[in-house]
Amino acid sequence: MTQEQTLVKTLDFQLNIQSDNESLLYDATVESRWAYNETIRLAKQGVDWDEIPDRVADHADLVKNTTQRVVAKALGAMENYHAYDDFGLPSHTKDGTYPLRANYEEGYNLTLRDDGTVEFRISAKPYKHVNGVLEGDDTHLDILRAALTGDGWTIGTAEALFHNGNPELHINVTNTKQTVREKQDSRTVIGLDVNEDNVALSALSAEGIEDTLVIDFPEIKFERHRYFTMRKRVQNAEKPSIHDTLEGQEERFVRDRLHKVSRHIVDWSRQFEKPCIVFEDLKEMRDSIDYGTRMNRRLHHLPFRALQYYTSYKAAFEGVPTAWIAPEYTSQRCPLCGHMERGNRNKKRFKCRSCGQQDHADRSASVNIAVKGIRKHQEWTVPALNSLPQVRTVRRQASGAVDAPTVTHDTVRGYQTDGVTGVSD
Ligand SMILES: [Zn+2]
Repeated sequence: MTQEQTLVKTLDFQLNIQSDNESLLYDATVESRWAYNETIRLAKQGVDWDEIPDRVADHADLVKNTTQRVVAKALGAMENYHAYDDFGLPSHTKDGTYPLRANYEEGYNLTLRDDGTVEFRISAKPYKHVNGVLEGDDTHLDILRAALTGDGWTIGTAEALFHNGNPELHINVTNTKQTVREKQDSRTVIGLDVNEDNVALSALSAEGIEDTLVIDFPEIKFERHRYFTMRKRVQNAEKPSIHDTLEGQEERFVRDRLHKVSRHIVDWSRQFEKPCIVFEDLKEMRDSIDYGTRMNRRLHHLPFRALQYYTSYKAAFEGVPTAWIAPEYTSQRCPLCGHMERGNRNKKRFKCRSCGQQDHADRSASVNIAVKGIRKHQEWTVPALNSLPQVRTVRRQASGAVDAPTVTHDTVRGYQTDGVTGVSD
């Protein structure tokens, strides 16, 4: 029962429109609403539906292709009214704006500049274009850049519209080459434990633990704390603009680092046979029980969702599925004997009070996440674990993408000295 999924996505952007062209786009969306209403009116008059597109296009001050798409949308709505038998109701028309629907390279165009920004050009009206730069979430920009440069992509229709008074462009992209394997069809399940200053990854197959990696990123924690202090200071000085600037700088810094970490996670995961990356669904726990200080701190101190999101979409681009599990007990359970006790974990050190196993606590958590992932999504069973492989730690340098191996921990001798030294919380 394997069904692969094609990657289709709608990317949302804000339009930073050049000069005074915003009113032109606005007028076009009002014209688009006219075309929509006119289609409904003609259909209700009993005009042959095949004639409607041309009749509306003759009078609409829009690019013909755009008018055709709006008419098609309105006729689609009419079909629904028929289906619900409310065709005779007075009006299905509305006031205001209606999205401009456009085909790529007909109604709109995109250009990737050398500096990574993406320029747009929308044919709002015949021979009248709206130009500018797309702005928006890094992840959406990343995908769009990939679509503009990589093969195997199709850029589809887009809608230009006003959302809360601001112009936006919603672009449909499809990755025709890449499909994402069904998560149930995996041979290696990788548990991802996200913390404030590191992530721990353990790859678990039917044979046992294939490997463990801990990626340290102390500079993210450091910078977040530094910015937090700076923001506090300017907040007290009542300078909201500086406060906002700092927030933007911090966000960009953290997002940039999280992108690199997520790239690392996906690259590492791809070495295993049919991998599936499993996350803890931390959203679920926010409204439920108090999971203790460690969890609360994790929730507030790191943009977990962002890292999980970056990882899952990068994984999808490599055809790697991702999955979610509930976060209960992942840090308290002994990965070897299954014993669960809150006191098992003490900061970065895990010591089982039942079998005496000692380990890097974040690695233990990542193993438990993988175990839960196998139980929830896979048909094969979790192997009995008698020993855990060494933990390899790499550090993402603040200066860039250099990965320097720092320490290798031998779990047989225990983690107690290396693991606890230097842990400030
Ligand atoms: Zn144990």
